[in-house]
Amino acid sequence: SLDSVQTALNIQALGADAIVLRHSSPGSPLLLSRIIDVPIINAGDGAHEHPSQALLDAYTLRKHLMQGAKNLQGLHVAIVGDILHSRVARSNVLLLSKLGATVSVVAPPTLLPVGIHNWPATVSYDLDSVIPHVDVVMMLRVQQERMSDLFFPNAREYSRYFGLNAERMSTMKSGAIVMHPGPMNRGLEISAEVADSARSVITEQVTNGVSVRMAILYVLLAGGALEVGSN
Ligand code: ASP
Repeated sequence: SLDSVQTALNIQALGADAIVLRHSSPGSPLLLSRIIDVPIINAGDGAHEHPSQALLDAYTLRKHLMQGAKNLQGLHVAIVGDILHSRVARSNVLLLSKLGATVSVVAPPTLLPVGIHNWPATVSYDLDSVIPHVDVVMMLRVQQERMSDLFFPNAREYSRYFGLNAERMSTMKSGAIVMHPGPMNRGLEISAEVADSARSVITEQVTNGVSVRMAILYVLLAGGALEVGSN
């Protein structure tokens, strides 16, 4: 809106080195970058993208499963749940596939976007058949605030078919891990037992978010090249 344009012009006038923008409108960081001359970092724009979440997820995967390799070649990642409303899914499908991982999205048909078959990901409606084959199960939050319609019959039915509980987790490969970008709906898309299990790297994702976001600021603002280390 015109108000936010004025806000941006004011932030520019204050001499900010960067703007970290989280906004409900898809495309707002791009729009703003055309209006002002301050670097804009997209911290989540509507249901479109969430680049820093994808970067911290890729970092967490590399650290856990790739013994320091620089890409994610050979890894199979399932992203499960509310793909339709998920900026985390959009950014992760792009980044993880670019880094060499195979990505599957798993959801009820009503929670998949139009055009999903053009994404660099395979599509499944059946969580039980996917779980035993993947190295990573990334659960997404059911975004109740974005549900303008009835996308599934009720919470119980959703958990039954698309929730990760201990029984489903027991069919995962040995060494496979569970991720979630937070905030979790414990008892809906993920049970508390799974969230707190040894396979869960969910709190580590939070920890890694701090250094990855520091790195983003460093690389983009200080213009420094980042040494890719082994951890
Ligand atoms: N925290 C993430 C986001 O901002 C995931 C979520 O809200 O479900 O998109």
